[in-house]
Amino acid sequence: MEVMIGLEVHCQLATRSKLFCSDSTDSRESAPNENTCPICLGFPGSKPVVNRKAIDYGIMVATALNSNIARRMYFSRKSYFYPDMAKNFQVTQYEIPLALGGYVEVGDLKVRIRRVHMEEDPAKLSYVGGDITNSKYVLIDYNRAGAPLLEIVTEPDFKTPQQARAFLEKLSSMLEHIGIYDPSREASLRVDSNVSIEGGNRVEVKNITGFANVEKALGYEIVRQRGLLRMNMKAVMETRHFDAATRTTKSLRKKEAEADYGYIFDPDLPSITLSEASIKKVADAMPELPDQRVARISGSYGLDEYQAKVLVYTDKNLADFFEECCTRYAYKDPPHAANWIINYLLKSLNWNMTAIKGSKVRAGTFIEFLGLIDSGTITERYAKELIKEYVDTGISPTELAERNIRSTPKINLEEIVSAIISSNRQAVEEFKGGNARALQFMIGQVLAKTNKQADPNAIKELILKMISEAK
Ligand SMILES: [Zn+2]
Repeated sequence: MEVMIGLEVHCQLATRSKLFCSDSTDSRESAPNENTCPICLGFPGSKPVVNRKAIDYGIMVATALNSNIARRMYFSRKSYFYPDMAKNFQVTQYEIPLALGGYVEVGDLKVRIRRVHMEEDPAKLSYVGGDITNSKYVLIDYNRAGAPLLEIVTEPDFKTPQQARAFLEKLSSMLEHIGIYDPSREASLRVDSNVSIEGGNRVEVKNITGFANVEKALGYEIVRQRGLLRMNMKAVMETRHFDAATRTTKSLRKKEAEADYGYIFDPDLPSITLSEASIKKVADAMPELPDQRVARISGSYGLDEYQAKVLVYTDKNLADFFEECCTRYAYKDPPHAANWIINYLLKSLNWNMTAIKGSKVRAGTFIEFLGLIDSGTITERYAKELIKEYVDTGISPTELAERNIRSTPKINLEEIVSAIISSNRQAVEEFKGGNARALQFMIGQVLAKTNKQADPNAIKELILKMISEAK
C-alpha cells in the first residue's frame, strides 16, 4: 500500500506593506483590526494596487525552485463565504500562476514542484475557549487580511512523514537565505498536506503550524487510513484539522471541488507582464542558496558535509554565527568550532527554548570559550558544564570560569587520589590482578570528589603513578 503525500506551503512574504494596499504587514505591536483600510476590507469602490516588491520576492522563490516563471500573470477571485474574508472572495492566482513546475532536491529525493502562486492572506480567527471544532465563539482580526502569501504546491512525491519534514526544513532555509520571510513572525509558514494511500481517497489536513506537527499529523493520518483500508473501508475525501494536543486529526468538512469556488479574473487588477530583463535582474541579484552555502563552507572551512548541513539547514543565523567566529574573529580551527556549536551550543539553546538570534550568545565571547578549551585552561568535561551557564547568562566565559574557581575550594588532586587509593585497597588489588574496571571505578570516585572538575586523563595518570610508586 503505497503512501502519497503532497504539501501546500503558505509563506508570508516579509514586505513592509500588504499585497494590494499600503497597510503594514507587521502587526506585532498593533491592536486587533488596526492595520486595515477600505481596500483590504473590500469596501465598495476601493481599488487594489499590486505591491511590486511582493512580485519580485515571488520571482526569487520561483527561480530558487527551478520553476518556469509566467511572462504574463493574472489575479483571480476565489469566491467563498467565510468570516476570514470581508469581501467574500480571496484574490489569488488560479488560471495562470506566477510559476509552474520546478523541483527541490532533498537528499536522494527529487521533489517536484507543481506550481507557485501569490495570494492574499485571510484574516486571523481566534477560537475562544477551544478550537475550530468546539469553541463557543470566534474573534476576527483583519490585520493579517491582505498580507502577501506565496503558496508553493508540490507533487505528491513524499512517501513518508520524515521526507515531508526534511523538505520543509530545506525549503524554510531556502526562504530564509533568499531573505523574503521572517521565521520569528507568528505563523509565517503554514502547511496544508494531502495524504492518500493506494486504493483510497485523498484527505487534506489543513493549517498545521510547525514542522514537527506536520510529521505527527501525517503519521497519524497514515495509520488511520491504513486501519480503514484493512477493514475494507475507504477514507472519505475531506478536509481534516490537526489537534496538536491529542496528536490526532478530526474531520472538518467534506472537500469542495475547485469548481465550487467559481473563479473569475479580477476586473480591478490588470494582468502583469514580466519582461525578460526584469526576470533576469531579479535572478542576477539572487543571494547564495543553502546548497551553494553547504558546498562553500564545507570547502573553505574544512567541515565535513554533515556539519555544514546542520549549520545551514538548522537556522540561517546559526551558519552566520559560525562564519562570524571564523572570519571576523579569525578562529583558527573551524571544524572544532562547528563541533562545539552543533553538539553543545545548539543543545543548550534548545534547552532554553531559544534560537541563536534571540540568545545572549555572541561570536566574540564564544571564541573566548573555545580559546579556554584550546589552551587547556578548562577541561572539555568542565566546558560542557560551563557552556550551559554561558548560554543562560551571556557572561564572558573567562569571567565565569574564574568565578567558579574562586567559589570552589582549590582542588588538591594528589590528596584526593591518595585518599581514594588508601580507602579502596580491594579495588587496587583487583586492578593489579588485571581488572581494568577497578581502575575506572577509582577514577569515578576521584571525579565525584572533585565535583567533576578534574580531567579524567590526569586522574588516571596520577592513580597509575601512585599505585606503581607504592609497590
Ligand atoms: Zn488595507
